[in-house]
Amino acid sequence: MANKLLVCNLCNGEMQLYTGPRYSRKLGVFLVGVGIFLTLFWMGPVLGVPLFFIGLYMVGAKRQLWVCKECNTGIERIELKPEQTETVKKTKE
Ligand SMILES: [Zn+2]
Repeated sequence: MANKLLVCNLCNGEMQLYTGPRYSRKLGVFLVGVGIFLTLFWMGPVLGVPLFFIGLYMVGAKRQLWVCKECNTGIERIELKPEQTETVKKTKE
């Protein structure tokens, strides 16, 4: 994706592609820990296992952003599906 450069709306700075964690990593790790704890000691797997997997998901989930090099403004990338692009073409015809 190095074809077009985006320009920041606020300061006309160059924007850079940035991949970062979607959720707070600390919270994800915390949920994994609570999940393990519940499974071993307290409520059992009914509550602990889902919490464990939610925590793992939160640690692993990523999001892509355009971030301005100058002022750190971020824009979230939204990728349109091919079907949606076709729908737009049909509407124009
Ligand atoms: Zn900027």
